[in-house]
Amino acid sequence: MKFYNSLSRKKEKFKSLVPGKAGLYTCGPTVYDFAHIGNFRAYIFEDILRRALEYRGYEVTQVMNLTDVDDKTIRGANENGVSLQEFTEKYKDSFFKDIEALGIEPAEYYPAATDHIPEVISLVEKLFEKGLTYKSDDGSVYFSVAKFPEYGNLAHIDKEGLRAGVRISNDEYEKDAVGDFAVWKAWDEDDGNIWWDSPWGRGRPGWHIECSAMSMKYLGESFDIHTGGIDNMFPHHENEIAQSEGATGKPFVHTWLHCAHLRVNGEKMAKSKGNFYTLRDLIEKGYTGREIRYVLISGQYRQPINFTFDGLAAARSALSRIDEFVRLAKDTAGDTESSGKMPGWIAESLDAFGAALDDDLNVPLALAALFSLIGNGNRAASAGELSPENAAHALDALRKIDTVLNVVFRTEEAVPEEVETLLVNRQEARLAKNWAESDRIRDEIATLGWIVKDTPDGQKLSPK
Ligand code: AMP
Ligand code: ZN
Repeated sequence: MKFYNSLSRKKEKFKSLVPGKAGLYTCGPTVYDFAHIGNFRAYIFEDILRRALEYRGYEVTQVMNLTDVDDKTIRGANENGVSLQEFTEKYKDSFFKDIEALGIEPAEYYPAATDHIPEVISLVEKLFEKGLTYKSDDGSVYFSVAKFPEYGNLAHIDKEGLRAGVRISNDEYEKDAVGDFAVWKAWDEDDGNIWWDSPWGRGRPGWHIECSAMSMKYLGESFDIHTGGIDNMFPHHENEIAQSEGATGKPFVHTWLHCAHLRVNGEKMAKSKGNFYTLRDLIEKGYTGREIRYVLISGQYRQPINFTFDGLAAARSALSRIDEFVRLAKDTAGDTESSGKMPGWIAESLDAFGAALDDDLNVPLALAALFSLIGNGNRAASAGELSPENAAHALDALRKIDTVLNVVFRTEEAVPEEVETLLVNRQEARLAKNWAESDRIRDEIATLGWIVKDTPDGQKLSPK
């Protein structure tokens, strides 16, 4: 497999530290609000990465942190007059619901920053021992960028621009503000009653050190892959490298991958710009998690995707082409299992699919391979040449492809509101023993792609 490594700025052949295993750290959400679908572009790219590694036989250990203490979460908790825990809990919960709706395979670990304060403190102590940090008058601890000669290698910072001794206490800042950054922030009035004790007095971790402490705890001092959105490259990831390598003297991460943004009218989708949609917003408008996933996987991860409702409509029609073929293949295969040699047209699509993923996760080409399989299958069926065995082979191939894309089969799809309403109406018709109306509604539900069965436990719905 080849990935474009942001550190070397080259496509490189991937070689993991331990053969057959891949350690992956993916920066997770700051739980101060509902994530928007721009955030999910990053998490879905990481999902494709993880699933592609698994497709190629790697046993993946993925860690995604939850940033539940930083400038934004503290502000939110204090403005709402609730504890940090209470404030962040509902956003954590909704994050897990959303990733499920988007068909994202769960990571092995979701460490929360507030559960790792001792790890942060011991990392800062190590940095002190190495002379890389200093305490400021207010009791905060800063990393001295001038003491770490490799600072700026990831984001290609002009070293001339380094302003030694200039301190930045904010978690987020632009490249032209590069300077010494806070790893431990002394308590101040704005923090209210949110603080932890440390050898430097009351305070709390900076955002960047959280990720260094948690990634190394779960994946070791050196690990394979670290990812995030392109905006995380500076200062967040640059600072993570400085803190981690500064403390251990070992290379921190081998391969850095960054995804481009989801845009709206050419601009980054962002909370601050007000041009964002949450998953809830779109589900309320009648779109499904599967359709949104399709839009978010359909661009190569290093290219921006422009979000539009036309794009969602295109996803819907692409998915219905897939559904039609799955239905056709299932009807044709019946109970027949695949046997004998896989026909060439299926094997070729599978090869093309794997090759596309191996080439820096080229999902557009991988989708082209999927649609070429569907096109060939449809042609064979119209010519009366799709045998039950080959239909079963096609379904096997689709299942394999779907271990990565997770859009072909509709197992976890949310039931559309329209279908829910029809189910309620049908239940009423049945209670009134109006069987004709009940059958009519069942047929209407079927035209929407769902099968309803009556069981002793009531109506049961499944995708057609
Ligand atoms: P945040 O919650 O702001 O720390 O962001 C969480 C993740 O979402 C980070 O990896 C960001 O880089 C990513 N992200 C935020 N906005 C976008 C966007 N419009 N497109 C792609 N990724 C984004
Ligand atoms: Zn991070």
